[in-house]
Amino acid sequence: MQATLQYEEVRDRVRGAFLGLAIGDALGAPVEFMTSGEIKARHGILKELVGGGWLRLKPGQVTDDTDMALCIARAVVSCQGWELSAIAQQFSVWLRSKPVDVGDTCRRGIRDFMLKGQLETPFNAWDAGNGAVMRLLPVAILTMGDDSLLQQYAVAQARITHNHPLSDAACVWLGRLVQHSFTGSSKSRLRRELETLLVEHPQFKFDPYHGLATGYVVDTMQTVFHYFFRGKDFESCLVGTVNQGGDADTTGAIIGALAGAYYGEEGIPHRWLKKLDRHLMNEITRLAEELLKLSPYGREMRG
Ligand code: MN
Ligand code: MN
Repeated sequence: MQATLQYEEVRDRVRGAFLGLAIGDALGAPVEFMTSGEIKARHGILKELVGGGWLRLKPGQVTDDTDMALCIARAVVSCQGWELSAIAQQFSVWLRSKPVDVGDTCRRGIRDFMLKGQLETPFNAWDAGNGAVMRLLPVAILTMGDDSLLQQYAVAQARITHNHPLSDAACVWLGRLVQHSFTGSSKSRLRRELETLLVEHPQFKFDPYHGLATGYVVDTMQTVFHYFFRGKDFESCLVGTVNQGGDADTTGAIIGALAGAYYGEEGIPHRWLKKLDRHLMNEITRLAEELLKLSPYGREMRG
């Protein structure tokens, strides 16, 4: 991988990505499952971390999307490397903690691990949800500098709960876009990279955009791509995405990770960062930096 940026600049983007994930989750969660029309009637354009919604959240509160990414990050950092069973173990600890929300496919996969020790759920035509890609970010950080490692880990973590080629492809390609963003690639470069995915899986084509933002991983990624490539800054990428409604916390979390990687920590509006729980922010920052240190890129740059 081309070392086009200083380590400190990359680290700023890595922190921005993880904080961005939490912010997108917190921004979108209050309008999860609403239509864009319902959001408009209620909020005009939703631009603030207001809380509420069907989960009755506090302003700035995050949900399963952030929680599950934290599970992966905690497992990797505590093992100082990749240990799939440690990740599944963290998911189990989290599920037992009675989280505010859990996707059905995630719950089933984690239960199968708890009951049978199963680390790979069998192929299921209904597993093309967005539950594996929403938590992918820590893998993108950890595998920076090694694309085959990214492919291996992205799919392995996904298959704990989701086993479907479209979910796998979304995980690998989100990881690639995030990694290219960390090293300073332009949006036009990222758009060209993405052509390979659109040739392999034309389902993900997002131009023209059809305005669906459901939990189906294809709809989710089309929404993220659409608003990422047309957004002019971190805020407009996220605001456009969550106001589309549907699975708004999850599309929000994914675009938050990607836009955070692209624009870096200083691209995140201060008024949003202030709403995040201090404790959560500190943990996210620490884990993001630790993951980067453990990556092939981090090891090489640090000598
Ligand atoms: Mn959620
Ligand atoms: Mn969701």
